[in-house]
This record gives sequence, C-alpha cells and structure tokens, in this order.
Amino acid sequence: MKGFVTIFIVNITDLDDKVFEKAEMEGINFEDLAERYTQEFITSLERFRINSINAFHKASNYLNEIEYQIDHLIKNGHAYQVDGDIFFDVSSFPDYGLLSNQTPCELMLRRLNPDPKKRDQRDFLLWRSGIGKPQYFKSKFGIGQPGWHIEDTAISLSVFRGGYDIHGGAVDLIFPHHEAEIAQGESFISQHPFVKYWIHTGLLLLEGEKMSKSLGNIISLKDALDQWDPDVLKLCLLSRHYRETFNLRRNDIKDFEGQVTLIRNTVKRLRKRVINSRRDHNNSNVQTRFQNHISNFYGSLENDLDIPKALNALIFLIRAVDKDMVGVNQDLLNELLKMLAILGLEA
Ligand SMILES: [Zn+2]
Repeated sequence: MKGFVTIFIVNITDLDDKVFEKAEMEGINFEDLAERYTQEFITSLERFRINSINAFHKASNYLNEIEYQIDHLIKNGHAYQVDGDIFFDVSSFPDYGLLSNQTPCELMLRRLNPDPKKRDQRDFLLWRSGIGKPQYFKSKFGIGQPGWHIEDTAISLSVFRGGYDIHGGAVDLIFPHHEAEIAQGESFISQHPFVKYWIHTGLLLLEGEKMSKSLGNIISLKDALDQWDPDVLKLCLLSRHYRETFNLRRNDIKDFEGQVTLIRNTVKRLRKRVINSRRDHNNSNVQTRFQNHISNFYGSLENDLDIPKALNALIFLIRAVDKDMVGVNQDLLNELLKMLAILGLEA
C-alpha cells in the first residue's frame, strides 16, 4: 500500500473435516497432509510473484488460543455449552447482522445448521464435541474440535492483539463467517471495531460456473501456472475490478499474450537505449511527456484499487514509450520497473 508499512498474514485452515478425511484415506497425519498442500500453495505464490504475504499461520498451532478465547467468551456471557458443544450467543451481540446488512428477522429465516441444542437458531458453533471421532483435541471443555470461525479469530487476534485494519476475503464469506468473526472478536477484546475495513472480492467462476469440488471444475494455482505464463495469467486476472465476479474462460487467457510480449520487448529496448545514452543530458521533458499515464496509473490504484484502469494506463505508457524513445532516461526506466513491480509483473 502506498506509503504504509503493512503486515499481511494468511491463515491456513488445517483443522477441517475435509483435511481429516483425506489424511485418513491416505493413512497419514493430518499435519503432514496440510503441510504438503501449504508448501505447494507457497511455491505457487512465489511462481506467481505474489510476495506481499509476511506470514502463514496454521489453525492447528493456535489450539491454546482457541481454548482461551472460548473460555473468555463463556465467562463473559457470550457463549454457552450444551452436551459438550459450545455455541456463541448471538443475542449477546446486538451488532450481529450489520456487516451482511441483515435484520434479526432475516437472520432467523436463514437458519444455518439447525440444532435443537441452540438457544437461538442464529447461534453458531465455537466448539463441537467429538467423542468417538478419530480426529479430536483435548480441551478444558472436553474432547472435540473448534468451529471454523473461532480458528480465524484465534490467529488474527494472537498476531494483532488490539484488532487490525483490513480483513479480506471473497463475498461468499461475509455471512456467516465474517459476521461470526466480528461477533467473537469484538466480544473477546471488548472493542468496536476490531477490524476497520472489510474488503471483499467477487467470486471467481470458471467457464460460467462456480468452481467447486463437487462439480470437479477446479483449477489450482499450480495447474494454472503449469499451463500459462504467469504474467499472461496475471494480466488476465487483473483485467477485472476485484469487487466484480470474474468469469474465467480458458480461451480468453491467451488474448493477453500480446500485451505481455509488448511489455517485455519495450522494457528490453528501453534498457538498451538507456545504457547506450547514459552520457546524454537528462531530458526532463521526457518525463512530462509520459507523466499523464504515470499519474493515471497511481490515481487509479488509489481509487478503490482500480487495477484494470491502472493496467490501461500502464499499457498506454508502454505503447507511448515503444513508439518514441527519443531522450528516454534512467528515471523513466525506473518508474516503469516500479509500476511493473507493483503489479507483480516480470521486468
Ligand atoms: Zn476468516
């Protein structure tokens, strides 16, 4: 982010029934399975030149914090235990529904995981008793598994003790997941807001359909990078605003090859040109000639991260440079390399 030092953490949901089931099928520990996929994910991010993430945190390393937070919520009247299961008491948190803009009445109609043990059907699970299940953990509440929502709050509030600035995710996580995180988080630290900004991306569709394991139409980042040049894929993905639904069509990706070639060739020529004309006088008019595109690039990024528009400005700049290299200098090259680095494109 421009002018801000950021700490960006990503959680790894390794405490999950799907992970446990697959590990059991393969006859290995769930930790080993999760580690294998985590490493694959990190390698793919590196190949894709996504280098802004400072740390990855696995939920399984936060079981003590999960226990501590649940205990705290129970003691402060925000949670209750019934037959080993522990639920968050939504009636103790009046802001529940604010993020997803739902009234208590609407929330009542949208029953999720109905359970006769719940005092109020809007309540959500913090801890599920797991007696007799192969994957369970010991806690002061008995043997069981944490609910998904509390895993994230345990991680984020361990790292950012007093709350934090930005929480991201796709729109399908707003309810119930992020709504639940707010209820737990704010009840736990007695602070509002515990997250200042929620940033939600649109969904990624593949050939017009939601990517889902049951439909079998999932492309992992690794598979995608095996098929396409990282920059070509990236330009394609950056061509839509982050809040829009993105319908990825395999045949559309190659349309971005031309732009990538143009960028690479122009940077190469510009580099040569700058080296050959190093002793030339610095021509300040040159920068002014391109300033419009440079300003549009940064202006677009500052306007709710309008990357498609920033990308347009970059392409305009590249075309302008490509057409006329008279008097170009090191400053311009540096500026261009900085812009490419911001978008994570190779230069
Ligand atoms: Zn989360």
